[in-house]
This record gives sequence, structure tokens and C-alpha cells, in this order.
Amino acid sequence: MIEMTMTLTHLGTGSRGNATLLETEQAKVLIDQGFSGAQLEKRLGRLNLHPTDIDYIFITHHHGDHGGGAAVSQKRWSMKIQANHRTAEELGLLPELTHHFEALDVIRVSEDLAILPVPVPHSGSDNVAFVASHNGHRAAVITDLGSWTDELVTHVRGCEHISIEANYDHNRLMNGPYPYSLKDRISGRGGHLSNDQTGRFLAQVCTPDTKSISLTHLSEKNNQPHLAESTVLYHIDELFTGDISISLQDGPERSHYIGKSVEKELLEKQTRSNG
Ligand SMILES: [Zn+2]
Ligand SMILES: [Zn+2]
Repeated sequence: MIEMTMTLTHLGTGSRGNATLLETEQAKVLIDQGFSGAQLEKRLGRLNLHPTDIDYIFITHHHGDHGGGAAVSQKRWSMKIQANHRTAEELGLLPELTHHFEALDVIRVSEDLAILPVPVPHSGSDNVAFVASHNGHRAAVITDLGSWTDELVTHVRGCEHISIEANYDHNRLMNGPYPYSLKDRISGRGGHLSNDQTGRFLAQVCTPDTKSISLTHLSEKNNQPHLAESTVLYHIDELFTGDISISLQDGPERSHYIGKSVEKELLEKQTRSNG
């Protein structure tokens, strides 16, 4: 079989830890490592992988739920990390195992995988989203942003798969138990996207090429999977006919396949000609 797919598996997303596995034939990378060493080992183990199988960890930003497990991964398994200067410094990464990227400079991981960091606004951090390309197929992983830029829209538009946070339901947050100052911070430009904002962003970037969407980083206090899904679908109902799913804190949740294997295409042809 000639493998032409890229798979994307959430090992878990949420305020208690984030990591997403991207796999092609030639490369395996993690986006974020917000888990303890033991948790990472356990979650990769469920996929029959070990931390030493990973080529690079790409870090979106220095907050503990995204980068808290990065330094320990370097010390324990000599894992190589890709991060911008600010994030690497804040996380105290080992220089010999860290590569610093610049925003909007493509990082070629292997012949079949390239990754583009795109800046996103998020308080007190130098946060980026990542757009991965694999033989012309693109997938975006976007998390922890209070708002978005035209630049982000440009780079994410038409991606085949989009993983994006849908952090909170606006009414739940406002009527919930958090103090006013925290409500303000979460809903501000430097905070997180509400379900409604995520829906409006997706309405700008979904095209007929967009086949799957994962909603991630749902607040356990201020959101519910059914609210996130229905609010987002309200905005993209006319545009999007693909598959939508929710990734919660305890993964690995499910894999998204981008592109198609030759074997799968042949199978589909056979099914069509038989039917
Ligand atoms: Zn986060
Ligand atoms: Zn954050």
C-alpha cells in the first residue's frame, strides 16, 4: 500500500493538558506537551508508540497545559523541541535539544511533512497556531486565542482538517461561578474563544475542501459538548458537510485522516462499481 495520508490524533485537550499527534509515513510530531512524563508515556502507549518515536514536539505557547511537560521530555527522553524564543525561554528548555522557529517560516520536518507557525493573540504569551502540509493536504491546529487575525484566516482557509478550541459557552461563563476579573480575562482579546466566536471564525475559513473539524479545549465548568457542537454548526451549516467531533481531556480520542491511501481509493472504486 502506498501511504498518502496524514493522521491527527488528540492525546487529550483541555486546561489539564494538551497534546496532539501528527503522523505521516516519514514523520511523527506532537503539537504541545502539557502532560507529565508518565501521562505522555501512557497516552502514546495506547497507540503503541513511545516518546522516543517522536521526531519533534512543536509548542504553541508556554502555558503549563501546553508546554508544562516539554522540559521533562527533553531530560527524560532527549526529545527535540521546536518553539519560538519567548516560549523556549519561559519553559527553560535545553538549548541543545531546542530549535527556535520564527513565525511564518516553514519548518520542514521530513520530505512529506512541513509545518507553518502562524501567530495568534493570547495573553502574556507568544502563541502560534500550526498549519501542517502533507503532499498538498493541509491540517490546522489552533488553540488558546482570544481573537483572530486576517493572517490566520488566510493560512487556515481551505484546510482539510481544522482542530480549534471552543472554550466556553458565553452564557455559562457569565452566569457561572468565576470571579468577574477571570470572566473578563477569559472572554477578552487575550483569552479564549467562545463557541460562538469559534463558529464565526470557522464560517470564514471553511471551504468545500474542509472535510473534518475537531473542537478542542472545552472548559469543564463553562461548556458542554452539545453546546459547542450546536453553536458552531449554526454558523457553518450552509458551508460544511464534513465530520465534526469533540476532543476532551482524556484521550487519545480519535484520528482524522487527511488525504487518502491508494488502497482506500481502490476499495472505494470497487464499492462504487459493485453498487
Ligand atoms: Zn490552554
Ligand atoms: Zn494558554
